Amino acid sequence: MSPAHPRRIAVVGGGVSGLALAAALPRTAEVVLHEAQPERAGAGWTLVLGPWVRPALHRLGVLDAVVRAGTPVGPGRLLALDGRPLTPAHDAHLLAVPRPALLAALGGALGPSVRVVHDEVLDPAALDGDLVVGADGVRSRVRALVDPAGAERLVTPWVALRGRLGTTPAREDVGEYWGPGMLAGVVPSPGGGYWFTTHRSALGPEPLDVPEVLAEARRAATGAAPVVRALLDDASGATATRLWVAPPLRRYVRDRYVVLGDAAHAMTPNLGRGAGEGLLDAVTLADHLAGHRSLVTWQVRRLPRTRVARAASSAVMRLALLGPGHALRDRALRLSLGAAGPRAGRR
Ligand SMILES: Cc1cc2nc3c(=O)[nH]c(=O)nc-3n(C[C@H](O)[C@H](O)[C@H](O)COP(=O)(O)OP(=O)(O)OC[C@H]3O[C@@H](n4cnc5c(N)ncnc54)[C@H](O)[C@@H]3O)c2cc1C
Repeated sequence: MSPAHPRRIAVVGGGVSGLALAAALPRTAEVVLHEAQPERAGAGWTLVLGPWVRPALHRLGVLDAVVRAGTPVGPGRLLALDGRPLTPAHDAHLLAVPRPALLAALGGALGPSVRVVHDEVLDPAALDGDLVVGADGVRSRVRALVDPAGAERLVTPWVALRGRLGTTPAREDVGEYWGPGMLAGVVPSPGGGYWFTTHRSALGPEPLDVPEVLAEARRAATGAAPVVRALLDDASGATATRLWVAPPLRRYVRDRYVVLGDAAHAMTPNLGRGAGEGLLDAVTLADHLAGHRSLVTWQVRRLPRTRVARAASSAVMRLALLGPGHALRDRALRLSLGAAGPRAGRR
């Protein structure tokens, strides 16, 4: 069997991308999915998914379950950090879904030909299989087999804090707050609301001490809108994460190795596209394999789009956190995004 007509497929990683691929692959393939940390399926925060992800969820047979488990974000807007609206409220039809619920839905869609093994793959080159797929996240081991120059993940200067709100945020507070020095977001989510902030930090890189990161964030939020200061003041249960990205790869496919999801294109989270692009990678790859189309054709379809998303989310991060000069940025944003609303304008 060749990688283009694989009968036995090894998938490394059972996050969003790996589970979606295993669920979408033709039932004629024998699939072994390796997951090193199965307990992570119950962990993680809310993921905001754009409407462009729905066809992939439908193809996987999980759209209804995911919609039921999520909360529509509804109208939101882009605001300056101090709370001045930069755009009118706009409904971009985003869905806020807890990561555990998304993983549970994908796990429930696995067919009988998928065997899930709880182990850490130390040497993906030693795996059996006509095809070995790296869905192993930003620290991917499979990536080195696809593009040795892109083996190592890249550290960014930014850290993210994420937390829950016990109550649904007020409509006028929903949206993204842009700098100087901090990016913050507030959305409704099942059980209340979800918030995140990002700022530049020299701490770490890892592990991060949450109280230290919170203290930094509170300093960066001096002068921020009351809702942003309030969520940082009452941040019990918040987690802090250093943001890492994948290096820009020249390829996602080599011989019998393929990478997808964060393994291929982990990006800063500004555009809320990481998980969605992983889902799209998975269903398009499965469809290419089912149609006996070449893996290179799949790469031609997915690599340019995800490279642009990766670069754009980094550019948005820089723009959002802009220091001096942000007033000029805010004026330009009002002019360019005024009619369309935040997410639509940045897509
Ligand atoms: C702060 C923040 C906010 C975000 N917000 C959003 C958002 O709103 N919307 C959105 O779409 N995306 C968002 N993302 C991005 C999203 O979380 C990721 O893009 C997505 O979860 C990647 O899924 P994945 O399956 O590709 O990788 P991962 O979730 O990293 O899964 C990889 C899996 O592989 C396993 N693994 C790794 N190595 C091995 C090995 N050697 N052997 C066996 N198993 C292994 C790991 O245990 C893990 O379960 C955000 C990210 C961050 C950091």
